[in-house]
Amino acid sequence: MSRPARAVIHLDALKHNYRLAKSLSGKGKALAVVKADAYGHGAIPCARSLSEEADGFAVACIEEALELRAAGISNRLLILEGFFDQSELIDVASESLDIVVHNPEQIKQLEQTPLEKPIRVWLKMDSGMHRVGILPGHYREAWTRLEQLPWVSEILLMTHLSCADQTDTGYTRQQLEVFEQHTLGLPGERSIANSAGLIHCASARADWSRPGLMLYGASPFDHCHDIEARLRPVMALHSAIINIKEVPAGSPVGYAGTAVTNKTTRLGVIAMGYADGYPLAPNGTPVLVNGQSVPLTGRVSMDMLTVDLSEMADVKVGDPVLLWGKDLPVVEVARYAGTIPYQLFCNINRVPLSYQHSASKEVV
Ligand SMILES: *Cc1c(COP(=O)(O)O)cnc(C)c1O
Repeated sequence: MSRPARAVIHLDALKHNYRLAKSLSGKGKALAVVKADAYGHGAIPCARSLSEEADGFAVACIEEALELRAAGISNRLLILEGFFDQSELIDVASESLDIVVHNPEQIKQLEQTPLEKPIRVWLKMDSGMHRVGILPGHYREAWTRLEQLPWVSEILLMTHLSCADQTDTGYTRQQLEVFEQHTLGLPGERSIANSAGLIHCASARADWSRPGLMLYGASPFDHCHDIEARLRPVMALHSAIINIKEVPAGSPVGYAGTAVTNKTTRLGVIAMGYADGYPLAPNGTPVLVNGQSVPLTGRVSMDMLTVDLSEMADVKVGDPVLLWGKDLPVVEVARYAGTIPYQLFCNINRVPLSYQHSASKEVV
């Protein structure tokens, strides 16, 4: 038998979530964001399963884009960080990639690099996130410079929201106003919303939305939100109990003895650790054993973690464990661990991924 830690990726759920994103987009189109290996879910199989219906995909960099093209993905494909070096523009043009342009340096390099095949540029405005993007006061000038290049076939107008996941929409409204004001009268399709914007802010939906996290079935909100009931988790992180033992009261558990039993305690050890991407979550974080919630106890180690099985009547070595997935939302584990679901997904490592296309059929 091999180590039981594994992640099952439910592609039917991915499709369901993409359709939900599309329905929220109204008449708008939706780029499925599959950067960072589809948030740890595997970019190629995820993109393949959406390729017939997705309006397009978005990745972070050219390496990720070329990997998808090499795998036969011919959908529209946007590089969210654009290019870092002029030399990338050759591949951008020959592979028909769309690029984000977010700083004056990139504009200068584009001006200096005539391309045989014209490309589409998504000109990004910094409407208030203050990470990348052209500042509002320079946006029109940037647009005009791109407009003059014969090798730019189309300019889309884009910005990114920093606080769309917050209950208070004040800052989002401010960003939308800045974007509106500084693109007034400019032709071209517009793109604003990530998952949170798409769900929470109707006026951010625009011509193209860019949902990422929601496609994988996790809510982008820190607070409870109705959308959770409509999303289907794509990743199920499984393992099994590999050891059970009973220890007396006063026994320290695991490295540094960060938990000490206060009664006779039945401890279960699970093949899952931080080397698999499980977070250093605190005592009490829920884990499902045989479908029943039990608390994590002691510090998570590299390859194993320990739970308190005292409340479980029948449990034996080999019993199934779910770390997150259906019935245990990744968002909940993230809350306990003091992080965000994005990071939990992206940290997935070492565990083999297998793909399930429908409820019955599993393809490895
Ligand atoms: C990652 C990313 C997205 C997707 O964000 P989610 O919160 O995962 O929906 C959208 N737009 C840009 C520019 C991004 O970098």
